[in-house]
Amino acid sequence: MSDDLPGQGAIDVHVHIQPWEMMKPWAHETITRGRNDHELIKACMASPHALAEHLDREGIEKVALINYVAPDIMGFLPDVNDWAARYRDEAKGRVIGFGGIDPAATPDMRSEMKRLFEDLRLDALKIHPPHQDLAPNAYRHGNKDLEIVYRMLSDYGRPIMFHTGTSIFPGARSLLGDPMLVDDVAVDFPDLKIILAHGGRPLWMAEAFFLLRRHPNVFMDISGIPPKKLLEYFPRLEEIGDKVMFGTDWPSPGVKSMRKNLDDFNDLNLSERVKQNVRRGTAHRVFGLKENE
Ligand SMILES: [Zn+2]
Repeated sequence: MSDDLPGQGAIDVHVHIQPWEMMKPWAHETITRGRNDHELIKACMASPHALAEHLDREGIEKVALINYVAPDIMGFLPDVNDWAARYRDEAKGRVIGFGGIDPAATPDMRSEMKRLFEDLRLDALKIHPPHQDLAPNAYRHGNKDLEIVYRMLSDYGRPIMFHTGTSIFPGARSLLGDPMLVDDVAVDFPDLKIILAHGGRPLWMAEAFFLLRRHPNVFMDISGIPPKKLLEYFPRLEEIGDKVMFGTDWPSPGVKSMRKNLDDFNDLNLSERVKQNVRRGTAHRVFGLKENE
């Protein structure tokens, strides 16, 4: 769909096609409960071609696959990075590949970051503070590894995404989902492109809105927010529209399909300029995509 006119397509910057076989049983049970599309999800996990066919059906040109490392709460080990890079390479331009880091289990963070961004050439990094029991600003309290991560990402020009908002997975530390913990990072690393996943939903939308207005390099995705409710959550979305990205969180609990979310988003009372930015313009700038990518 790369020959679509600019503004016609949509990029979903938040999709959880991950190696679910790594998941702890209780985490797996939480993410699969109540779904009737297990076969489709399994097929997409096994094959980037199956995902591409599904994206064509859903009207989505490209997706960012969100992988991260969270051994204790979710079961995701550092091998998710190899999985993510391989999948992205096979997906022929339809996938933006996120990876993750686990400071507690990484003896040499500098060489791990080199591995992720020079050898595997991942596109971005995800940190999930509630699932990793890791505060985004922990570098201010002695976590030197995080400082290395933020510095190297700034140098590589690659974005970082923080989960913001609560989490329903057993053992998750929702307090660490407060977006205000990211304020320090934006102050101390002004060149780092930061994405607040979920806009702090459901507790901290005002905080997320503040951070987007305060810091030039802070962005957010709308994943996990039912699009019909988006303007209730962010009544002044129009003001930050050039910093917001479409995302669904599919196939997480409660997210039926990417297409349904896209249709509901398109029906919102927003200017066409903001809709185009949210659907793909902002993602193009944040991930440094070329117009024909
Ligand atoms: Zn997510």
